Amino acid sequence: MKQTNTLEYAKKLDANNALSHYRSQFHIPKDSQGNDWIYLCGNSLGLQPKATQSYINQELKDWANFGVEGHFEAKNPWMPYHEFLTETMAKVVGAKPVEVVVMNTLTTNLHLAMVSFYEPTAIKNKIVIESDAFPSDRYAVESQLRFHGFDPKDYLLEWKPRDGEELLHIEDLQKIVNDNADEIALLMIGGVNYYTGQFFDLKKIAELGHQIGAKVGIDLAHGVGNIQPELHNSNIDFAVWCTYKYMNSGPGSLGGLFVNERHANKKDIKRFTGWWGHNKDTRFNMRHDFDALQGAEGWQLSNPPILSMAAIKASLDIFNEVGMDSLREKSKELTGYLEMLLKDLGEGVIRIITPKNPNERGCQLSIQVKSADKSLHQKLTAANVITDWREPDVIRVAPTPLYNSFEDVYKFVAILKNIISE
Ligand SMILES: *Cc1c(COP(=O)(O)O)cnc(C)c1O
Repeated sequence: MKQTNTLEYAKKLDANNALSHYRSQFHIPKDSQGNDWIYLCGNSLGLQPKATQSYINQELKDWANFGVEGHFEAKNPWMPYHEFLTETMAKVVGAKPVEVVVMNTLTTNLHLAMVSFYEPTAIKNKIVIESDAFPSDRYAVESQLRFHGFDPKDYLLEWKPRDGEELLHIEDLQKIVNDNADEIALLMIGGVNYYTGQFFDLKKIAELGHQIGAKVGIDLAHGVGNIQPELHNSNIDFAVWCTYKYMNSGPGSLGGLFVNERHANKKDIKRFTGWWGHNKDTRFNMRHDFDALQGAEGWQLSNPPILSMAAIKASLDIFNEVGMDSLREKSKELTGYLEMLLKDLGEGVIRIITPKNPNERGCQLSIQVKSADKSLHQKLTAANVITDWREPDVIRVAPTPLYNSFEDVYKFVAILKNIISE
């Protein structure tokens, strides 16, 4: 057995890691004996920071004490509450504050962004997505096509893996773009593919789209808080994301929108509007003419749910303290360690479909276990190992750098090995 393939070694890695103590800031679910679950499912729902409760309690208390006056009198006044989230959220996604707003949920934001950035004409009207895009993204895109009178069968182009492969090649997207240069209006791509964990070169995708005069949108559900997408420098037009996965803000919590600075002051841009996107100085004059706020804030519709925003603030305060550079550094080590241990199980037993290059993936590894079916996942769950099963035969394993340990990773592989050898 290799020196590195021991529980002692895993514990040593934890002891030497600068971010290890953040684990204690999270509620880790436990079994009936009080042992921590091995929770490797932050790609689906992040764990709860212990601080979240007090952030939410603060708002409940201020509501109890101030009623409607809480909009101004609360410790964190509700009127501008979303602004308290902007700066850190912008840092997390690599954007300028004017380009970012926390609002609604992902799919809602995707629709709102497409209202503005999918502007089909009689000739330029097609949308490109990945063939295994997340279902909600596909439904949203298809319904936008239909809304404009275009049958998705003919107007939705799919960027597909080559035969016998799972990962996508940028050259194949380039070919789609070249072959349909006059007809494509929008590239709408998942920045980190939810199934394979592949992280695409966003700058390159933006270049491909812009070369042919198409807009470029990115779904960052699996990217935010995981990789460093550098949204501003990537030059994409818009991005949308949720915050309940790697951002640990709780089930169904609010999402985010990025709109590139170059669109920030376009008052005539087509959009669906609501009062929260209106000039703050005159919002309550109940004027007739809509006067859009500058930047991403101008896409807001409603006054937002403060309790959800409080949970996001609790999470963002942790991200702000840690910083994405250190987080990403640990993430690469943790996932590299997982990869190494899985390889030790034997290439014939486990196949990792996620890219090998750490710069082309986040923390998630998607693995295929030879001749496995869903019962493997059920056995893992029975052993309090929480991973995520995707048909037909993929287990997604996401060790997150904030609360997962090298010990978690070691134990996961040891349990997997036992189950396989049974
Ligand atoms: C998780 C996820 C969603 C979920 O959308 P909601 O509107 O938040 O329910 C959408 N797209 C992708 C790519 C996702 O990973």
